[in-house]
Amino acid sequence: MNFEVLTLFPDSLRPVFASSIIGRACEKNLISVNCTDIRDYTLDKHRRVDDAPYGGGYGMVMMCQPVVDCIRAVKKRLSGSTRVIYMSPQGALFDQSKARELLAYDNLVLLCGHYEGIDERIIELEIDEEISVGNYVLTGGELPAAIVVDCVSRMVEGVLPSPECFELESLQNGYLEHAQYTRPRVFEGLEVPEVLVNGNHALQEKWKSEQSRERTGAKRPDLLKKAKD
Ligand code: SAM
Repeated sequence: MNFEVLTLFPDSLRPVFASSIIGRACEKNLISVNCTDIRDYTLDKHRRVDDAPYGGGYGMVMMCQPVVDCIRAVKKRLSGSTRVIYMSPQGALFDQSKARELLAYDNLVLLCGHYEGIDERIIELEIDEEISVGNYVLTGGELPAAIVVDCVSRMVEGVLPSPECFELESLQNGYLEHAQYTRPRVFEGLEVPEVLVNGNHALQEKWKSEQSRERTGAKRPDLLKKAKD
């Protein structure tokens, strides 16, 4: 799977995609992540990419020409199915089921806005979908794009050691994951639950499933209600 991140600040993102699990997945060619500098596409002699909003108001708006040209140039070199997404606080909320849905595409083009956002005509011309990472406003779409790349990538075959790594995780089946423990067995007087160390696999699975439902009820009753409906 290929991710194309269009941004005015590619250097802020490249180290994020070069490290840890995502970095290793890129090295193994399981995924690819390219960061393109939108400014490289401006035809303005001063390399400007933004201008004041019509009708007045605070801040600057990213202009049509560099952004549209950048999206079209990137799309031109892609093959396979492509979804162009604008990271925006006005989009639908990103969640695990949206991440699974996006996994179906060969390419995700993620446009990061900055300042006051982008000219509306860019959305009309080039954007398939707007996605928000939460009901709050950030300074730019770079962190939201990194969230989408990270969350979708870890479901690409081979990125994690086994599909069970994410299939049995929180939110994947509508419930939160059970509590996790590792060595030592006792830490500052707190013991690992006996069932996890007694070697009875069937009992352990039963405990995990009960735990998962209990925690969901305690921490996220909204999810439990949804799972029961
Ligand atoms: N003026 C815009 C509005 O009120 O809808 C907000 C612009 S925001 C300061 C700048 C950029 O950050 C946006 O264009 C978007 O790309 C990104 N952004 C901010 N919050 C976001 C969120 N919750 N989810 C996704 N992207 C976000």
